[in-house]
Amino acid sequence: MDVKKIYMDADALLEGHFKLSSGNHSQFYLQSAKVLEDPKTAKVLAQALAIQIKESGLEIDTVCAPALGGLIAGFALATALDVRFIFAERVDGVMTIRRGFEVAKDEKVLMCEDIITTGGSAMEAARAVEALGGKIVGAAALANRGFCKHENSDIETKPNCKLPTDIPFFALADFTFEMYAPDACPLCKDGSEAIKPGSRGN
Ligand code: ZN
Repeated sequence: MDVKKIYMDADALLEGHFKLSSGNHSQFYLQSAKVLEDPKTAKVLAQALAIQIKESGLEIDTVCAPALGGLIAGFALATALDVRFIFAERVDGVMTIRRGFEVAKDEKVLMCEDIITTGGSAMEAARAVEALGGKIVGAAALANRGFCKHENSDIETKPNCKLPTDIPFFALADFTFEMYAPDACPLCKDGSEAIKPGSRGN
């Protein structure tokens, strides 16, 4: 499966001059919501991810996603794996399990995101699951920004990856592109202004 082509065909791999949530600048930005706006594409991607997970033999009771970004990917993956789906959301800045969702002691939970950058949001949500007694058995994402090494990938894990090394991480593709500190950004040096994705209709 050519995941990059799917992202490009859906106009989900944006080219320009972006200010990322980390504060760094980049020429590219991934907008997974654009890929997932077509439920058929969401289903196909989630099924491909589910096949990887099933082939690994990992046992999963529940998929949990951090809202908002992980919701669609998480729901589609849970559907493909035929397991329960719950989500965590921020309350006063803290990732929390609400909505009456219960987690049993040692329930095997897979964290799912649309895109894993450092895995920070996924692990914040994971801590909320663990606080209720759940056991985090793995992480999954449709796209990986290249900081964390996923199963069957030849990239190296970078120091800022926040996913634990003792659980498997499944992803469909690596999207590794250069990021620059604002004072070292060649796009800024060329005189253009970095925009925050989402701030101008993208
Ligand atoms: Zn810049």
